[in-house]
Amino acid sequence: MSIVVENITKTYGSQKALDAISFSINSGEIVGFLGPNGAGKSTMMKIITTYINPTEGVVTVNGHQVATEPMLVKQSVGYLPEHNPLYLDMYVREYVQFNASVHKVSKERIEQVIEQVGLTPEAHKKISQLSKGYRQRVGLAAALLHDPEVLILDEPTTGLDPNQLVEIRGLIKEIGKTKTVLFSTHIMQEVEAVCDRVIIINKGKLVIDKKLNELKSNEQQILEVEFDLRVEEQLLKQLPHLTTAVNVFDTTWQLTFNSQEDMRSVVFDFAHDNGLKLLQSSQKNQDLESLFRSLTKG
Ligand code: ADP
Ligand code: MG
Repeated sequence: MSIVVENITKTYGSQKALDAISFSINSGEIVGFLGPNGAGKSTMMKIITTYINPTEGVVTVNGHQVATEPMLVKQSVGYLPEHNPLYLDMYVREYVQFNASVHKVSKERIEQVIEQVGLTPEAHKKISQLSKGYRQRVGLAAALLHDPEVLILDEPTTGLDPNQLVEIRGLIKEIGKTKTVLFSTHIMQEVEAVCDRVIIINKGKLVIDKKLNELKSNEQQILEVEFDLRVEEQLLKQLPHLTTAVNVFDTTWQLTFNSQEDMRSVVFDFAHDNGLKLLQSSQKNQDLESLFRSLTKG
């Protein structure tokens, strides 16, 4: 396992930015870390890269615990922060060299990385002269210098124009052939374009952790149901074949089942048996974008 996240909770004052999140990532996987703004993505990534401490829980990267062996974790992780601070007055090559001095990286390696991220033609330019897409490549180069096994990229494509998007996605895919990559985004399409697997969080909670092909298979059945009264999630968990229950709004729930059987009648009986009325129930179509929206609504 490259990254093991166990029961991570992070509170800021009274707010839970992350609430008991657990997942693990195998080496070589490219995993999309998806969630709307404020879901807790950056917070999780800062914990994995040792920049902030969790309130509870343990994270292990390449066998090293972030709490006790932060230096070893940093050595095996490349991190592109969300608002990557670049020195705009520096030249591209100069900036990469500057970062290289931190990691004691060879000259050859510097040129290799500049080449790898497609910056060779721009290497003599000032960073301030580069487009946003090329600035992201500079950040990527810095993250890749020490040849880390794991790359953590925080919204690497946010703010890019459509052409730059495609280029950076392609680059991430290419890099992902030899590394473990966890990258965050709020765009489901991006996950489809780049990843093997998706982890979705919403309001600090994990809502889905699945291989994309499993998500795409039609075995998942989504029902949006409205009861006449508020219901505890604990009760809904008694439903057969239930995989997730998300409280969309008040007494409305988004229920996902791992079954081909039409679950509407099962939910109807379930409501009846528990003294509830089912006011509405509709089957949702399964495209990933709508799945994401429904899981992260509200
Ligand atoms: P995302 O990256 O998914 O947009 P963040 O991890 O940045 O989400 O933020 C998750 C939640 O934690 C948000 O509600 C945000 O306002 C809050 N938060 C993040 N950093 C801090 C901080 N340093 N102090 C207080 N609240 C914070
Ligand atoms: Mg963020």
